[in-house]
Amino acid sequence: MLLIISYFCSMKTHSNSIRELRRHYAAMLNEIYDPNESNTIVMMLIEHYFGFNRISLALNPDLCLNEDELEKLDHAVSELMTNRPIQYVIGETEFCDMQFEVNGNVLIPRPETEELVSMISSAVKSQQSTDTFNILDIGTGSGCIAISLAKLLRNSEVTAIDISENALEVARRNALSNGVAVDFILSDILSNPHLTKRFDIIVSNPPYVCESEKKTMRANVLNFEPSTALFVDDNDPLIFYRHIIRFAGNNLNPNGVVWFEVNENFGEETAELCRNNGFGNAAVIKDSSGKDRFVKATR
Ligand code: GLN
Repeated sequence: MLLIISYFCSMKTHSNSIRELRRHYAAMLNEIYDPNESNTIVMMLIEHYFGFNRISLALNPDLCLNEDELEKLDHAVSELMTNRPIQYVIGETEFCDMQFEVNGNVLIPRPETEELVSMISSAVKSQQSTDTFNILDIGTGSGCIAISLAKLLRNSEVTAIDISENALEVARRNALSNGVAVDFILSDILSNPHLTKRFDIIVSNPPYVCESEKKTMRANVLNFEPSTALFVDDNDPLIFYRHIIRFAGNNLNPNGVVWFEVNENFGEETAELCRNNGFGNAAVIKDSSGKDRFVKATR
């Protein structure tokens, strides 16, 4: 009770009322975000740092922050003003109803990738098999694909590789905090990794944004997300898919499936690449905004 009361304003600290602060910081953020986004972001900060959501604020309109709390909020907003994404500022994000730690060493998971996970999970569940099956995630980053598949598909054994040890550290913590076991391995798909295991599913959301697309991208992505996880040379945009599909030729079990997230401009080319490398059944699948976003390939 004492704790709660201490959050109410005394006459002296009136300008620290959360209601006022929300308005103040949202107005600042309006410089770089649209007003709805600014409000959502300020609410996210307040909920993350102090545990108040919209409902508790509505019920207690006079809640105040003390000086230390105010400093935290102020610091977070000044980081946001440099275009640092909110997910990096608070150090976490939600993906497939799970919490994931993120930092500048890993890409912030995107909603399209949630669609990929849910397609794979539905496809596996529809087979109604109780056999254990092996999944490999290539370029795992935060581990979001590998970890959510391990969580959703209880009879799976999941392996995940990445070229970045710093990313794997984040991914290992995410597996732990979400209560699943994933075998994380430091490995570069471009240098023909030697994995002796065979897999039933190989999934990847590799770098696929062309260098030339940089000019259309926002500063929050360009200046803060790891470029090695995002960009490919315009002269060889399918480099990762080519290496992965060759690897799959050797390491996929007979009825195995390859699932890719792809650049919306290269859906058909990626499917064709799969067809030319022994995966005759390759199909492009659209995401929920109608863009060519995924390729599913079987032999
Ligand atoms: N979808 C991401 C973006 O648009 C790119 C992800 C990737 O390169 N794999 O920023």
